[in-house]
Amino acid sequence: MRVGDLLAQATRALPGPDARREAALLLRHVLDVSEAWLVAHADDTIDAGRRAAFEALVARRAKGEPVAYIVGVRGFHDLELEVTRDVLIPRPETELLVELALQRIPADTGCTVADLGTGSGAVALAIAKARPLARVVATDASAAALQVARANAERLGLRNVGFAQGDWCVALGDARFDVIVSNPPYIAEGDPHLREGDLRFEPRTALASGADGLDAIRVIVRDARAHLREGGWLLFEHGFDQGADVRDLLLDHSYVEVFTRQDLEGRERVSGGRIA
Ligand code: GLN
Repeated sequence: MRVGDLLAQATRALPGPDARREAALLLRHVLDVSEAWLVAHADDTIDAGRRAAFEALVARRAKGEPVAYIVGVRGFHDLELEVTRDVLIPRPETELLVELALQRIPADTGCTVADLGTGSGAVALAIAKARPLARVVATDASAAALQVARANAERLGLRNVGFAQGDWCVALGDARFDVIVSNPPYIAEGDPHLREGDLRFEPRTALASGADGLDAIRVIVRDARAHLREGGWLLFEHGFDQGADVRDLLLDHSYVEVFTRQDLEGRERVSGGRIA
């Protein structure tokens, strides 16, 4: 069968508005080719073995399995990251957290950064790459997640990142940092979205946190103070409807210059404050 026809057939088999893009990602994975190759080789014939392999992946996707877990990689910021079912699939909106952190991390001098709940390493590794003079510590409670993050750091040749296992600030020991970032779980346990789409397949501990979704954020805001240097920033991602609550939390714990930034869709997404 021709490449073009295979793609058209898979696009019809997949639900949702991204069917075409997802079919192309799966076919590129099977053939190990670039996007440009697919366009240029629409008339090439694909042998039966590779066609069967592709159709098996399309069938998995049609049953709901996330594309990122099927192909094992996901782009984030300027990185390509390995992802497994042990880690959250990095989201484009989390790049806002990286950008806000980079604004507070000098490029020309050393600085220390901690990323709490690093998962695939997305946030920590994007920062480490953009700021080679910064020393980044990436933590996670999950040993399996840390293994994925460590493998990503090695594959990307990033040597300014260290790893520590443990809950939130517990993993930091008695170290202090100039910037602490986190994309913690922030969905309410009973939220019906947890039973939809990619979220069904992702680690529950990476997504949900207590009855109102704020359990992890409460611990992070409370404990990060003791791990920040004077003037140091805490920045974290949260749900679109949690901005007012997290600003209150930050103010209750005496952070100053408390702010919230909206993502590209205009939803409150990242908040932060610093230690006076
Ligand atoms: N820090 C990782 C990310 O942003 C994982 C976040 C998480 O598991 N909640 O993708």
